[in-house]
Amino acid sequence: MPLNRDIYQALESILGAAHLTDQETDLQCYGYDATAYAGLPEAVAFPGTTEEISAILKLAHEHRFPVIPRGAGSGMSGGSVPCRGGLVLVLSRLNRILKIDTLNFLAVVEPGVVNRDLQQAVEALGLFYPPDPASMNFSTLGGNVAECAGGARAVKYGVTRDYVLGLTAVLPTGEIMRTGVQTVKGVVGYDVTRLLVGSEGTLGVITEITLKLLPKPETRRPVLAFFNRLDQAAQAVVEILHGGVLPSTLEFLDQPSIRAVEDYLHLGLPREAEALLLIEVDGERQEVERQSLRVREACEKLGATGTRLAQTAAEAEDIWKARRAVSPALFRLRPNKINEDIAVPRSRIPEAIRRFQEIAARHDLLIVSFGHAGDGNIHVNVMYDQKREGQESRARQAVEEIFKTVLALGGTLSGEHGIGLAKAAYLPWELDPVNLAVMKKIKDLLDPNHILNPGKIFPA
Ligand SMILES: Cc1cc2nc3c(=O)[nH]c(=O)nc-3n(C[C@H](O)[C@H](O)[C@H](O)COP(=O)(O)OP(=O)(O)OC[C@H]3O[C@@H](n4cnc5c(N)ncnc54)[C@H](O)[C@@H]3O)c2cc1C
Repeated sequence: MPLNRDIYQALESILGAAHLTDQETDLQCYGYDATAYAGLPEAVAFPGTTEEISAILKLAHEHRFPVIPRGAGSGMSGGSVPCRGGLVLVLSRLNRILKIDTLNFLAVVEPGVVNRDLQQAVEALGLFYPPDPASMNFSTLGGNVAECAGGARAVKYGVTRDYVLGLTAVLPTGEIMRTGVQTVKGVVGYDVTRLLVGSEGTLGVITEITLKLLPKPETRRPVLAFFNRLDQAAQAVVEILHGGVLPSTLEFLDQPSIRAVEDYLHLGLPREAEALLLIEVDGERQEVERQSLRVREACEKLGATGTRLAQTAAEAEDIWKARRAVSPALFRLRPNKINEDIAVPRSRIPEAIRRFQEIAARHDLLIVSFGHAGDGNIHVNVMYDQKREGQESRARQAVEEIFKTVLALGGTLSGEHGIGLAKAAYLPWELDPVNLAVMKKIKDLLDPNHILNPGKIFPA
């Protein structure tokens, strides 16, 4: 149902006029995320309390208008795009860190807190919140929880779900639900907290999050290694992990990414290398020293043609430059890209990359891969030029072939960005039909009128 005048006025009486808008320019600002998807909402709300959100959802449930939760809008799968009109619910006013409990190693936050702000606040107290999506400077913890965001440190520390102890969420009917515990252990009833983590704003609006914290590692040190053959790099990963070192970061760049970064920043990276590994270890100072030397030895043993071990913070920053520059460097290659975030079992990365290159050759396209070698999560970028006849449709075909390859290798279609609008059509490719049916029943049970973020996750 469209948002008519009566509903708008009811919303205004819940929120106050200052926190609701239907101005055309505002609507356009909240109609997109980091993908190419876009839609126009009918109104945008900026609630300040859980109770206001509850009242809004009761109204939406009764009058059957869509409500789309939104953090910073940095999602990579169209999750916060209002594809069916309705009300965009921006959580940015709920941005308080409510508690940092140094004795029990936990934090209680509102969903609009930016990831980096929490990281800095806990680190000042000697604590550590590991999930570090590359968007951590601007994405919100609510968005991170709704997407189950991961980051470069996932290989050692896991992803967002591993840190969420409990939640407050408003269900699509307006009921307020508390889940989880404030303890490390807790097994009472079904794990509804985990159900909400990664639910992409389709099962409830998260209004409070209890997060587990760790002690802050004393120091960290990166090592960079180049290999002339992809297989050598993959073997080095195995050697490092089997050698008893669990790095906090284990990233790789393939040859097209290395060349793109080198052409962009001129860091002296070898253009002939087929793979680059960036391995960072963290922990107690002497242990980090010992482990970084072992990492370098393992890379050299497996035939690395060059290694760099950071001795100072400035050298560490230089090493990270190469990894951080990949995304901007890619846009110098082609004006458009489709960025997929598939994951394959770690040992299958070389085979996956080889097969992606075959797909690229078959479609006369450039495919660039980089990402998290430690957890098998590869960012596969199909580069194209929209203005060139046929390139976009070839790129889309290539993406489908990439998905088939990934599933054949025992992988998954999304390692961290979620399904949203972007991958909804492909859900049945991966999910067992009974599993998919159970997911739909859960959605029907919690959101019988399908008002919360409709059109997302499930194929139309
Ligand atoms: C440059 C860049 C780098 C990125 N790097 C990474 C990365 O390294 N790892 C990674 O995992 N992802 C990454 N992402 C994508 C990632 O999903 C988001 O950055 C982040 O998790 C989304 O947070 P957000 O606040 O922007 O949420 P939004 O984009 O606003 O929303 C994302 C989804 O969460 C829902 N949502 C938001 N808030 C709530 C809430 N309070 N309650 C219920 N549902 C809610 C929305 O409805 C939507 O479905 C990156 C994105 C960009 C643009």
